[in-house]
Amino acid sequence: MNDSVSNSSNTNLLARAQKVLPGGVNSNVRLAVRDRFIVRGSGPRVWDLEGNEYIDYLLGQGPNFLGHANPEILSAVNAAMQDGMLFGAQNPLEVEAAERVLDAIQWAEQLRFNVTGTEAAQAALRIARAHTGKGKYIRFQGHYHGWLDNVLTSTKLGFGSPISLGQPMSALSGCLVLPWNDLDAVSKAINADPDIAAIITEPMMVNSGAIVPDTGFLEGLREICTEEKIVLIFDEVITGFRLSRGGAAQRFGVSPDLATYGKAIAGGFPVAAIAGSEKLLHKVGTGEINHSGTFNGYAIGSAATIAAMKILGRPNIYANLETLGTTLMEGMNGLAVKHGAPLHIQGLPMAFHLSFGSDEKIRNYEDLVKQNEASYKRFVAVIRESNIWITDRGIWYLSMAHTQEDVKETLERFDNALSKMNFEL
Ligand code: PMP
Repeated sequence: MNDSVSNSSNTNLLARAQKVLPGGVNSNVRLAVRDRFIVRGSGPRVWDLEGNEYIDYLLGQGPNFLGHANPEILSAVNAAMQDGMLFGAQNPLEVEAAERVLDAIQWAEQLRFNVTGTEAAQAALRIARAHTGKGKYIRFQGHYHGWLDNVLTSTKLGFGSPISLGQPMSALSGCLVLPWNDLDAVSKAINADPDIAAIITEPMMVNSGAIVPDTGFLEGLREICTEEKIVLIFDEVITGFRLSRGGAAQRFGVSPDLATYGKAIAGGFPVAAIAGSEKLLHKVGTGEINHSGTFNGYAIGSAATIAAMKILGRPNIYANLETLGTTLMEGMNGLAVKHGAPLHIQGLPMAFHLSFGSDEKIRNYEDLVKQNEASYKRFVAVIRESNIWITDRGIWYLSMAHTQEDVKETLERFDNALSKMNFEL
């Protein structure tokens, strides 16, 4: 680290950052957590500039599923990078990476790599339009599929509406926003509009809450799409490799036509993929559907993907994670009772959501926004002081690197934070 940085405080460095980076950050998602600079991560922990250690449940927004600086990922990447980064030509590592990802997810025959989830979502929508000859797509309220003009939309139902300055209205004219977990709404929209090429969904809604699909919802989407010849796209950028080795498709037993992957695919390295049947991806291969990218399949990303897939294929990995996450969720619930906190926890042990308010099951975005967001934001500020690293949107991610000891310590810190919240008993 450069000396002028190592001698700095979080506050001083934020002032410097704000001079050269708009808002002091490089992604607007981070505007909410810009007050601390993380200088190091190892396993499930991170350290800030001032030497404070945190147990991390943000995990870089998901990618560090194997823990920070996982030694096997580092060693694979280190070995690969000695021979160069990328070549603008084929490299054997990208073939093995594709084989291993397809072996993990099982349902797909082919894939193309990208670097970000945003790009993979664009590829999926383009392939769906090319395949069906139709122009519009259905998506769901509160889901996220990247920051580009044609997918970044407000949570208003109906046709998509921009949320950023500079976003052209026309870009969202093909985007129809429906409530999630509502098959009737989907059927009605499709009956009313013959121009739907695709339905894209997070197969578990994790960008708002952590909402497992109602029984029959994904199956219903599958049925409607097959019947109406609409392309079903699972956006597995968060759920892929996190919910199970085969992602949400495996966990919930429903196969999409196309799926996008990212985040956890490469142990923290930027890699994404669009996967599907040979039939759907065929015209990508002939060049009729354009899919490009200088860094796609780059050697070190492919080496990281191979190493990640090897680790995720080991026995008991997911069973251990379930046990650990369940212990954490149950412990939090117990502490909420102790402190009279109106805490609601839902989701799965590897990705769950905390909110304060009603303890009724949250089924969709409308339910979620009834929870007390301000209380949770206040809680996040308090628990950060107890050295737990999370975002203020309620999601907690577990990694393969967390241990029972980390969970025990987390619960102690959680207890301490709740005691400072002064809930009415
Ligand atoms: N899809 C989903 C479900 C996501 O959660 C995200 C990112 N949070 C994206 C797509 C976009 O991925 P990226 O940030 O890598 O472009």
